[in-house]
Amino acid sequence: MRSIVVPLPGRDRSYRIVVEPGLRHHLGELLAQVLPGRRLWLVSDVRVGRLYGQEVAEQLRQQGFQAALLTVPRGEGSKSWPVLARLIRILLDQGADRGSALMALGGGVVGDLTGFLAAVFMRGLPVVQVPTTLLAMVDAAIGGKTAINIPAGKNLVGAFHQPRLVVIDPEFLLTLPARERRNGLAEVVKTGFIRDAGLLELLAGPGRRLLRDPGLKNRDLLTEIIARAAAIKAEVVAADEQEGDLRRVLNFGHTLGHALEKASRFRLKHGEAVAVGMAAALDFSVTLTGLSPEEAHRGRELLASMGLPTQPPPLPKDEILRALKVDKKKQGERLVFILLRRLGDAVVYPAVPGALIAAWLDEHAGG
Ligand code: ADP
Ligand code: ZN
Repeated sequence: MRSIVVPLPGRDRSYRIVVEPGLRHHLGELLAQVLPGRRLWLVSDVRVGRLYGQEVAEQLRQQGFQAALLTVPRGEGSKSWPVLARLIRILLDQGADRGSALMALGGGVVGDLTGFLAAVFMRGLPVVQVPTTLLAMVDAAIGGKTAINIPAGKNLVGAFHQPRLVVIDPEFLLTLPARERRNGLAEVVKTGFIRDAGLLELLAGPGRRLLRDPGLKNRDLLTEIIARAAAIKAEVVAADEQEGDLRRVLNFGHTLGHALEKASRFRLKHGEAVAVGMAAALDFSVTLTGLSPEEAHRGRELLASMGLPTQPPPLPKDEILRALKVDKKKQGERLVFILLRRLGDAVVYPAVPGALIAAWLDEHAGG
């Protein structure tokens, strides 16, 4: 079993990320080491609940836990006040107290919602993250960011609430649809771009098989790639728990990515939008931070080889710029982007000219 420590200041706040195929069958032993009591509520969405939740809850009961499964509808809509309120009501009805704990079993949506529930219920319960999507394994489940959405925007209400443990079982990915897997691969590639050129080589070489092989026969390689990406996220988060400059490099591809998600009214998946944002950031890096054109080309090729888009879909350019808050009339406008000096070496670049972004969109926008 691979074990990555996330060292955090303060008593008992450090936690482990453990990675190994089949770990979902050993949750009882793992939880017993980090939770104060034996009363546990699992939260999943309905699909993950059906695929894994019942089975996991049953195994936990056999391993001495009093475990109940709660499910929420699939999708971002569940990161909402009504769903949160319903979960709180059920927890109270079923007698949850300060000695209880929560487990998020699902993708990023379930992780964010359950993490936030754990942060606020009775001023905070311990939570264990058990991510079932690639995106959540390498990104969302690590770092303690939790949130729900409100009409004014995504993730606008939330809290930092670190998990007690993150359990990654790559076998969950066997049932994950290809588009969801690609969605997570974008964040894996991002991790390589900002901090691990070796990971990029692994993805361009032996890792290519990962997407083409839906059976995920090569579990060792998959485990290696997930562990490596998760370790980098952990390292960045540990060095910078609360969103300072270091943690900001995790936003590579996300400035334009978020704008594209928004302009597409979230039809574009997060990873797809971030892939396009990374392709643009590679080009800006050539202009502004000395990335070689050859490296930028290799980066784009890698994204394309994973089946990720590198060009924006046909969206009105005005809407993308509006989402970026670039005012067409203010030509001098500048935006903060994460850019690369080399593959594997990111910097916070405070002043990407709005005109450069507009020109890139003119050149690349699909229609
Ligand atoms: P993300 O992790 O990308 O934020 P979500 O939490 O919205 O994504 O999950 C994406 C979709 O994938 C949801 O519909 C969820 O039910 C489904 N899903 C999550 N994990 C698995 C899995 N291991 N197998 C099959 N479907 C899954
Ligand atoms: Zn992201």
